[in-house]
Amino acid sequence: MTDFAKDFPILSQKVYGKRLVYLDNAATTQKPDSVIDTMSDFYRTEYSNIHRGVHYLSEVSSEKYEEARKKVSDFIGARNPSEVTFTSGTTGSINQVARSLEPSLRGNEVLVTGVEHHSNIVPWQLAGAKVKAIPMDEDCKSLVDSMEITSRTKLIAIAHVSNVLGSVNEIREITEIAKDHDIPVLVDAAQSIQHLPIDVKEIGCDFLAFSGHKMYASTGVGVLYTSDRFSDIMPAIGGGGMIDKVTFEETTYLEPPLRFEAGTPDIAGAISIGAAIDHMQKIGMDKIQSHEHEVYSYARDKLLEMDNVTVYGNTKQMCGAVSFNLDNIHHYDTGLILDKMGVAVRTGHHCAQPLMRSLGIEGTVRASFALYNTKEDVDMLIEGINKVEMMYK
Ligand code: PLP
Repeated sequence: MTDFAKDFPILSQKVYGKRLVYLDNAATTQKPDSVIDTMSDFYRTEYSNIHRGVHYLSEVSSEKYEEARKKVSDFIGARNPSEVTFTSGTTGSINQVARSLEPSLRGNEVLVTGVEHHSNIVPWQLAGAKVKAIPMDEDCKSLVDSMEITSRTKLIAIAHVSNVLGSVNEIREITEIAKDHDIPVLVDAAQSIQHLPIDVKEIGCDFLAFSGHKMYASTGVGVLYTSDRFSDIMPAIGGGGMIDKVTFEETTYLEPPLRFEAGTPDIAGAISIGAAIDHMQKIGMDKIQSHEHEVYSYARDKLLEMDNVTVYGNTKQMCGAVSFNLDNIHHYDTGLILDKMGVAVRTGHHCAQPLMRSLGIEGTVRASFALYNTKEDVDMLIEGINKVEMMYK
């Protein structure tokens, strides 16, 4: 076990009598003691509802919640914490934007890449937009130069990193082009926030969405960054906590971020995101990135060396997930057998059916990495794959 893994209590257990090799991090990451303890301490000694109370606990909770917002704001390079809204996750964040922008999207077009998660497709369709994909080559690299922008393109919504392939989209190039056409850009950072340093100003996006549970924090909570350029968009959901004045005839809203946070939020969840950021920053994002790069490249190279294994996707920069299939062996069977060896991977379409269709397959085996994974974990995966192949000989 690496020093990094020691902070994650769940990783020290055995499954089926074997060391647990957890390679399902694109689905969700495990939690370090520091995050678990922060949440537990919060519920034990500080918990109350926020922003509305005059009493001690409410003040403490509100302070902790706003502290978490500030940590997120600094972590992603926002200009102001008011640009950071806590949501229920990436899906919640993207749906919120879809609802807010619905008047301009309905009957128009949203440009996405060919590798999108369903969460960055379906909300636009629900908002009445036509979803169009930027063409990609056989390595699943988006061909940004072939991006077709028309007068009906009202938004570009792109994954920073593919949850299936680990390919990194060239978002900077895309935001540059979008700026020339004055089209807002949403970046789905669900698979990048935990792997790459992110600066929204540098990226030049208008919205950025991610989930707490994929970055070592709690489930059911996430973040939506909304550039202050869009501070006056219609809130997607209404209710308590976001209003200035309510009458039966008309309601006026508060300024962001509260404008976009109707109802009681997941207070402990938001605080857990702050704790997860502390954890990552204690290690250092650069150190996380270089360690993960080493383990990830080792895994990809090992898989590419194997006969009878197809590895999907190849872009200049890659991180997080690697997808593959074994010749003539169903991905589901591979996953099941690996599981019995203590190696947790995910199989299936990974909520990216259009990408599966482009690749001409039904699904893949996906190994996905986090800061606590090691080359030994990769060796276990490769050993497991060899055993699967032997069983099918
Ligand atoms: N976008 C991407 C790229 C993802 O990988 C995921 C989840 O796997 C999502 C969106 C949805 O995240 P959540 O289920 O946390 O809302």
